[in-house]
Amino acid sequence: MSQPALPVLPPARHHIGGSWAQPSGGATIAVEDPSTGQTIGDISAGSAEDIDAAVSAAQQAMYAPGRERWTPAQRQGALLKLADALEARAEEFARLESLDAGKPIFNTRIVDVPGAVAALRYFAGWATKLTGETMELSAPGNWHGHVRREPVGVVGQIVPWNYPLMGAACKIGPALAAGCAVVLKPAEQTSLSTLRLAELASECGVPPGYFNVVTGFGAEAGAALVEHPDVAKISFTGSTLTGRRIAESCGRQIKRCTVELGGKSPVIVLPDADLDAAARGIATSIFFNSGQTCSAGSRLLVHGSVADDLVQRIAAIGAAMTIGAPSDPDTRLGPLISAAQFARVSGFVASAQSEGATLAAGGALDGAIAGGRGHYFRPTILADVTARMAAVEEEIFGPVLCVARFETEDLDEIAAFANDTSYGLASYVWTRDLARALGLIDRLRAGTVRINSGGGNDFSMPVGGVKQSGSGRENGRAGIEAYTELKAVTMVY
Ligand code: ADP
Ligand code: MG
Repeated sequence: MSQPALPVLPPARHHIGGSWAQPSGGATIAVEDPSTGQTIGDISAGSAEDIDAAVSAAQQAMYAPGRERWTPAQRQGALLKLADALEARAEEFARLESLDAGKPIFNTRIVDVPGAVAALRYFAGWATKLTGETMELSAPGNWHGHVRREPVGVVGQIVPWNYPLMGAACKIGPALAAGCAVVLKPAEQTSLSTLRLAELASECGVPPGYFNVVTGFGAEAGAALVEHPDVAKISFTGSTLTGRRIAESCGRQIKRCTVELGGKSPVIVLPDADLDAAARGIATSIFFNSGQTCSAGSRLLVHGSVADDLVQRIAAIGAAMTIGAPSDPDTRLGPLISAAQFARVSGFVASAQSEGATLAAGGALDGAIAGGRGHYFRPTILADVTARMAAVEEEIFGPVLCVARFETEDLDEIAAFANDTSYGLASYVWTRDLARALGLIDRLRAGTVRINSGGGNDFSMPVGGVKQSGSGRENGRAGIEAYTELKAVTMVY
């Protein structure tokens, strides 16, 4: 069978004010195919000057005197048109995303591209549904009071490398629906699909300056965006380490800030659980996208009476996943994003083993696949872990499930076990007992609780964390309102 043609890469430029923009300097970043380690092109290493140009284009779009208003109905229309256009070019985007991020084409066809389309459609609807309030005021005399909900201003958005296209869609969707102009900095490892999305948005009637993309490194382009005085809000998704730095900077500037950070999400399996469904859900949650998902259920806490059975089932599902080139439609597990990530994941597994954990399944694959230099890591299970191991406390961002057992049936004790983490993004419970499910929902400290499911997104549900997993929410009503500011209006008549 002949290989499908490689997708055409976007130019090594930024996308500012509705068109491709020449970078201020000549520095570039190599684009790597994670399945081979080969350089396949380059993107621009944007500077503070490029960020300034993009912020200025965004400011113009929102605030230039005499500008044409971009109405709610027009915003909705443009987002729907963009969703349609993305859907019409789904295969091209699926291939581009697969190539750039090392994701199996199977995944990008069923999750990344359709997910981005669905997100855009969901947020499109909000553009025409946002409202303020009118109140009856109590002061003597004739008063009129109302609260306007206005766009917060120019927003800076910073996206990580694990779901580049869907991440970008979930960021620009609510911002544009709310009437904000955006400067988005994609991750330096995975900028290609976002550049193409910006190009497509211009073709679909998003007015010049409303959706700008500047590529580059976090420490340079990202930091410049966070520090820019004309940016009213930062929406960041990424590591807790970087998120803390960004939140600190925003705090100093009194800049609005939403940070969606790491997780180490517990999966509680009670003895009455449907083990077959649990095994499938747990394996999907931790092995999909090679474990590079912030809400992955990475800490399995299982009742001793069913632990061996469950772990065997999860291991069997992992072992049956076809590992291979992302472009092969049969591949279910692709490489990790980079050599650095491979080293990080390997390091966590090795350190856990040295501290007494058992490698119950998986481990690194030493370059036997697809040209020999891809960063492949097998579906891995670390058993007999203890709470203070680095592999258990820190987000690994690889296909590595840590397993610990408990013997108690006491919900307070089980919840304490699950909550023994600095993170609080998601949590998962497998049980057929409604009272125990509700009891744990009450006790778990996390932004999301899933009962008898390993994942599945609906954009109407708020996403975000408590504790070190972040602050603020994306998606749903809360996610769109985060791009608005309230203005209290009183009138005497
Ligand atoms: P990772 O370490 O896995 O790359 P990060 O959280 O550092 O995760 O990266 C997520 C996003 O944040 C990327 O787009 C990256 O370029 C950006 N970034 C990294 N450091 C900074 C920073 N100091 N300021 C702003 N953005 C940053
Ligand atoms: Mg890449």
